[in-house]
Amino acid sequence: MLRIDCPCCGPRDHDEFRYGGDASVIRPAHDDADPEVWYRYVFVRKNPAGAHREHWQHVLGCRQWLIVERDTRNHAIASVALARKPPAKKPPAKKSPPRKSPPRKRPR
Ligand SMILES: [Zn+2]
Repeated sequence: MLRIDCPCCGPRDHDEFRYGGDASVIRPAHDDADPEVWYRYVFVRKNPAGAHREHWQHVLGCRQWLIVERDTRNHAIASVALARKPPAKKPPAKKSPPRKSPPRKRPR
């Protein structure tokens, strides 16, 4: 049985996860009109015997997408990481100067 060590939930059976495809494929630019580029992105995959980067989603847990580096020969998992980087902490907002209200018009 394959055990995936989810960064959020800890080690879990792979039954809790859904395979999401090859994580080494990079999506072409949205405005790339070359059909060959899109054909290769959608249909052409490598089938390596060895280390492979894969997307997995923890569907029965935290629902996070993960990048799992797995050896396809023996299913040994070398690393598991969140697919999306956590949001960077924003610096504290600077106080803006008080707003000046526009001058009032005098009624005539
Ligand atoms: Zn999880």
